Amino acid sequence: MNAPRNEALATARNAADYVAAVVRPEVRALTAYHVADPGDLIKLDANESPFPLPEALRAKVAAAVAAVPFHRYPDGGADGVIAALRAAAGIPAALGVLLGNGSDELIEVITCALARPGAAMLVPEPTFVMYRMNALYAGMRCVGVPLAADFTLDVDAMLAAIARERPALVFLASPNNPTGNRFRTADVLRILRAAPGLVVVDEAYAAYAGESLLARVAEFPNLLVLRTVSKIGMAALRLGYAVAAPEWIAQLNKVRQPYNLNALTQAAAQVLLAERAVVDGQVAAIVAERGRLAAALARIPGVEVFPAHANFVLVRLPDAPAWFARLAAAGILVKNLHGAHPLLAQCLRITIGTPAENDALLSALETIA
Ligand code: PMP
Repeated sequence: MNAPRNEALATARNAADYVAAVVRPEVRALTAYHVADPGDLIKLDANESPFPLPEALRAKVAAAVAAVPFHRYPDGGADGVIAALRAAAGIPAALGVLLGNGSDELIEVITCALARPGAAMLVPEPTFVMYRMNALYAGMRCVGVPLAADFTLDVDAMLAAIARERPALVFLASPNNPTGNRFRTADVLRILRAAPGLVVVDEAYAAYAGESLLARVAEFPNLLVLRTVSKIGMAALRLGYAVAAPEWIAQLNKVRQPYNLNALTQAAAQVLLAERAVVDGQVAAIVAERGRLAAALARIPGVEVFPAHANFVLVRLPDAPAWFARLAAAGILVKNLHGAHPLLAQCLRITIGTPAENDALLSALETIA
């Protein structure tokens, strides 16, 4: 049987013609994920840890990376990293673990596996934008339910959407990005019990939250907890992990690329994951700075500070785009969220920096205010 004739393709002359003829319109309509070029600015825009690795640890990582057999593909199962993660994060032996090239990749894998024709993804919004983006990539319908004005879950609206849409997949980021608050466990559990499909609780910021559902995954057959090492000083590694019943992991494992975790990451991760004290020390320092920064920000006239349970703080200002520009002029890069969602009007997201960086931020803001 002949394929249907594509008139646009038949007349295509240049690359733009071919693109218009064959690339999906919803992809053509996108703008690529924007990563700001920090130049020399103080970088408080991407929720990274501000602390570099100690020199002695860098040397250990270098030695492990130097020993990697570069002519071979990586260990496809990444068993050494999984064992190191199980020990470092206390993952029960009865649960399955899947690794990703960042948790971004696992969001893609999960969405791809569940995107049956007609299936829906449910997300509270505003939240991490990659959930909705991946629904689009996979051709899955994404249903957004607004958070309450204080950024807590609107549980009744979520339950109504669950009853109406019967979503195959729900993403709940807790603490949520970009709002910074942790969702109440009782609210998450109500959604989990009502959902007819998989509920992913994305705990990218768990280290800063003091609460987690990881230890309770075995209780809930439809719960998957997603984690990453990106926010605890290892963003360069690109290592995320999913924890769920082995039945889920077995299916998701078929969708990931065979060698998704490169050998350099595997070698470095096994060294770093054994160094709990370094990570714990950095996390504790960031949590302490978060308290100091939030209190100081709240004293600046016109600044509203929202509850912060991650390694960043969301603030509302009289004119976020103008303050963003003035901060950049003062040498400090933050994330401007004005325009991203109605609930984020006049909001900036500020990653917790080193004490010196936070001091620079505060003095710049005091000058602007
Ligand atoms: N989930 C949330 C909620 C995030 O904020 C981020 C990072 N922006 C990610 C997942 C992705 O993290 P990574 O791919 O670095 O693991």
